[in-house]
Amino acid sequence: MLELTSEQISMGQAAADKPAALRLMADRLVADGLVAEGYLQGLQDREAQGSTYLGQGIAIPHGTPATRDQVFTTGVRLLQFPEGVDWGDGQRVYLAIGIAAKSDEHLRLLQLLTRALGETDLGEALRRASTPDALLKLLQGAPQALALDAQMVSLSLPVDDFEELVWRGARLLRQAECVGSGFAGQLQQMAPLPLGEGLWWLHSEQGVGRPGLAFVTPERPLTYQDQAVNGLFCLASLGEAHEALLERLCALLIAGRGEELFHAANSRAVLEVLGGDIPPDWPSAQVTLANAHGLHARPAKELAQLAKGFDGEVQVRVLGSGEAPVSAKSLSRLLSLGARRGQVLEVAAEPTIAEQALPALIAAIEQGLGEEVEPLPLVTPEQLASVPSTPVQVEAPAAGTTLRAVAAAPGIAIGPAHVEGPQQFDYPAKGESAAAERQHLEAAIGAIRIDIQQLVERGAAQSIRDIFITHLEMLDDPALIDEVSLRLRQGDSAAAAWVAVIESAAQRQEALHDALLAERAADLRDIGRRVLAQLCGVEASRAPDEPYVLVMDEVGPSDVARLDPARVAGILTARGGATAHSAIVARALGIPAVVGAGEAVLRIASGTVLLLDGQRGQATVAPTQEALARARTERDQRAARLAAAAERRHEPAVTLDGHAVEVCANIGEAAAVAKAVEQGAEGVGLLRTELIFMAHPQAPDQATQRAEYQRVLDGLEGRPLVVRTLDVGGDKPLPYWPIAAEENPFLGVRGIRLTLQRPDVMETQLRALLQAGQGHPLRIMFPMVATVEEWRLGRDMVQRLRLEHPVDDLQVGIMIEVPSAALLAPVLAAEVDFFSIGTNDLTQYTLAMDRGHPTLSAQADGLHPAVLQLIDITVRAAHAHGKWVGVCGELAADPLAVPVLVGLGVDELSVSARSIAEVKAGVRALTLSNAQALARQALVSASAGDVRALVENA
Ligand code: PEP
Ligand code: MG
Repeated sequence: MLELTSEQISMGQAAADKPAALRLMADRLVADGLVAEGYLQGLQDREAQGSTYLGQGIAIPHGTPATRDQVFTTGVRLLQFPEGVDWGDGQRVYLAIGIAAKSDEHLRLLQLLTRALGETDLGEALRRASTPDALLKLLQGAPQALALDAQMVSLSLPVDDFEELVWRGARLLRQAECVGSGFAGQLQQMAPLPLGEGLWWLHSEQGVGRPGLAFVTPERPLTYQDQAVNGLFCLASLGEAHEALLERLCALLIAGRGEELFHAANSRAVLEVLGGDIPPDWPSAQVTLANAHGLHARPAKELAQLAKGFDGEVQVRVLGSGEAPVSAKSLSRLLSLGARRGQVLEVAAEPTIAEQALPALIAAIEQGLGEEVEPLPLVTPEQLASVPSTPVQVEAPAAGTTLRAVAAAPGIAIGPAHVEGPQQFDYPAKGESAAAERQHLEAAIGAIRIDIQQLVERGAAQSIRDIFITHLEMLDDPALIDEVSLRLRQGDSAAAAWVAVIESAAQRQEALHDALLAERAADLRDIGRRVLAQLCGVEASRAPDEPYVLVMDEVGPSDVARLDPARVAGILTARGGATAHSAIVARALGIPAVVGAGEAVLRIASGTVLLLDGQRGQATVAPTQEALARARTERDQRAARLAAAAERRHEPAVTLDGHAVEVCANIGEAAAVAKAVEQGAEGVGLLRTELIFMAHPQAPDQATQRAEYQRVLDGLEGRPLVVRTLDVGGDKPLPYWPIAAEENPFLGVRGIRLTLQRPDVMETQLRALLQAGQGHPLRIMFPMVATVEEWRLGRDMVQRLRLEHPVDDLQVGIMIEVPSAALLAPVLAAEVDFFSIGTNDLTQYTLAMDRGHPTLSAQADGLHPAVLQLIDITVRAAHAHGKWVGVCGELAADPLAVPVLVGLGVDELSVSARSIAEVKAGVRALTLSNAQALARQALVSASAGDVRALVENA
């Protein structure tokens, strides 16, 4: 993020006119290596399009999109002109802030700057400032107001104890960007102050970027230090921003009115009592901002001018930002929103002008406010209400066609298709009365809540329960309910208000630069549809009684969890990816699933026989009798093979010619060790420690980690444990460890790159491991190593700590997940004790195909000869130095990959516990010499498909 520092400021400059000032600015940016000479043209062109005068004696000269390629490094430079420069239109500039930005990084700077400008007259003070520090102080000096709005209030939270309530309060502050991660820890260290009437107060100044107050209440009565807990205030304290609020609160408590807070029906009632930012009860409309560089100075100016044309107030806010609305007539306030492309703006106007102002402003924003905009892919509430209908042009696949799609859950399924068409919802746009509509909505939400609670209780697997616990949280999100209430008061029907709010929340989620979070929009729409169906009295269509294959456009997790695995043979969808929650639920329920097969599947006539192969990601429409017979035989043989394999799961995996391959388990928590050993694991080949971190609301301390690792080691009873140090970043975020948004998270700061930036975290983890490891065979490895230096830094840390915490049987190695590490294996092998190949990542980086991509992931096959070549290099290098090599990616559990990996010389295969018996059986069916011959052929094959055919026909 761009920051203002005194080094960027040049005091006492003079320029005869604006062109001279621009030249001076360009010279400074060039001299400091930020831009090339051509950037001056950009500064001039930009002023020609419209003045960059911001107000208060400040201008922000910057280039145009055409001169972005002239920027080497994003940065700012400030020139003070005590005599002033005429900037046109009678404006005098005393401070020019020159911006060199490659994209829209400078928006955040403008946001901070304009927030500081406020309404006071700064121009004169900027002109008189005598030092860079004094000038900086002026820019940053305006006190910030206390953040207290609907997003900061969360009522009736299902928490177990006071600590959890504190954690929830801190989370609200973090979501509003008042504090960074770790604030919950700060609060936990403070002594809570009882205010009376069961209300409590906690505050801290540590790590506060913006003052804010959160108020949280527990769902059921709690006690703390033998006193009732009815509600808790968590203050992120900065300066005196909270003083007025505190006075108001004291007066309220003295009057014995605390109950009004903790018995409040919604966040609005709390804000009314506390005097927080209450959204005005004005008509409003929403629009998604499409401008490539967000609401920057030029479009904001256009919007302010348009708004000024109406004789009444207009306010704008960014939905989901946690920030209060600002006046649309103030350029600086609009800039302070820092709105980016893809974010949803809510425009509210005073009732007297709303009818004219809202359509005009929304249309202007849609049209780009004077800029050309690339339209956003929009999903309208109507589209949510009826899942997109089947396009007319798409025809049903012909009988005998085999469709290739994403393998989402393994197994073979045969049965008649049951095609679930889009549900049609019919509802009025306007409601009877706000009170009546609210009652309908509450009843519908209540019914769905009970429904979801039953899914949580019935959930056979933790993964299923977790998904629906999140759904319950979404359903009770006070911000959603507040937005719906506002619409009800404006006359919307319950269904119309609900659809609009859910859809805009889902769009906001999709606009986040995070593939996993964006995928959660599907969960929001899932609960959205359920409540809507309840409101409209629409029931799901009746499914056949015999085992069938469910065909849908996209299944929501709750659709899948509701299915009866005894009646649903398989699932085939038109859209969706392997990491979608519905796929996770299908896997957990053991229902074979093939997803993302394209719109044509929706045209298949119900009753048509389908054959799904969830392992290969294939769906055959009306298969021939022979194909069916083959599939049935394969399915029965597989079942028989699995049963026989399970019988011998505790025996070692030795090939027919006497070559032993170790088969271990991949686990993510200590509790999984017992099951892994019971399923025949000869050790743990990958402990994904990030899952242990993710299970805690804040980073687990050394003692907590040590206890967890100790449980794993004790459970293994002398079998080896391969532990991977924390592998977060990229697509695996830790909620309490925020990482700056990255354009390409998979190529960003993740794995060992991240932990080397936080040696304290790595050191704590290593100490915990070494303390637990004495007396056990402990192997430590680093994830995502791309360079020899990274390995050496990690190794040196282990060696240093090992002096303090000796472990006799310790090996230190790396994961081979990045092609550069495989190519460097001959160098690394001399230094490491072992390699473990993470084929999931190695495949995505080798083939440049995102492992979670909804359509590409089916092709990201680890049996691609290019990936096999890298495995071959790694094994050869390791063996030349007497080191061992494991494979711990999904490939190790693929029955067709086992012969190839064994033939390439891999010494250990680490797979999920349920695959151990099958993998061992696969090894026992081989001879090493045949496997080696097969591997040699695989290495010179042209494609993954060729390799698969080779193994199948061997
Ligand atoms: C891998 O990349 O293959 C691997 C085992 O690591 P993860 O799947 O946890 O990224
Ligand atoms: Mg990996």
